[in-house]
Amino acid sequence: MSSIQAVFFDLDDTLIDDTESLESCAQSAAAELAADLKIAPAALGAAYVEAAIGFWTALGPGSSGPPRGDIRPTMWREALARHGVRDDDLARRLAARFDALRLASVAYFPEVLPVLEELHRRYTLGIITNGFAETHDKKMARLELSKFFDHVLLAGEMDLAKPDPQIFRHAMDLAGSKPEQSVMVGDRFERDIRGAQRAGMRTVWFNIRKEALPERLPLADATIGSMAELPAALRRIELG
Ligand SMILES: [Mg+2]
Repeated sequence: MSSIQAVFFDLDDTLIDDTESLESCAQSAAAELAADLKIAPAALGAAYVEAAIGFWTALGPGSSGPPRGDIRPTMWREALARHGVRDDDLARRLAARFDALRLASVAYFPEVLPVLEELHRRYTLGIITNGFAETHDKKMARLELSKFFDHVLLAGEMDLAKPDPQIFRHAMDLAGSKPEQSVMVGDRFERDIRGAQRAGMRTVWFNIRKEALPERLPLADATIGSMAELPAALRRIELG
């Protein structure tokens, strides 16, 4: 039996719904501000989603991305450019409106809060996200992360990105937990699970998109389809 001391979570699409909100807020911002462009809001929203996913996917260790203060407007500039429009002012206004809409809609998945209430009494809890302060600070304040989480790591602020094992090691240092006493919970197998495994941690894969199990070993220590299953999964890991 090995005891777990610290549990770390990915944020987007693990604790909060990111993907659905990304699409609906991008479409709403486009419908409100770009109606006279003769681009369907759904098409401009879709171009924004593509630009944003492209940005976060390309983000790797040491990659800097756009200058700070300009991440969202850059994504919107790219979305407009995909429809042949160059308008920096509009890109900035779309970015500001999109951020306001996103902030108003940010919320934990409904099953998450009772789980955090329970785990918070038993373990040190932390967040490890690939975000930047620029895109994540207001969102995290609204989620009142400090109620449950002892440590919040924004990898982008350290010029690191999951799956770089360094970010996981840094999190364990902060929590004072050894790898075998530490669990990472996340929805992206390559970033969250594989990265944590390389740092020697135990892992719980939240398979929210019902993806096929990865062909390459090792698998996660546990796989769950809902965050409500997490406390039992952690107990099984402790007993195993
Ligand atoms: Mg995620």
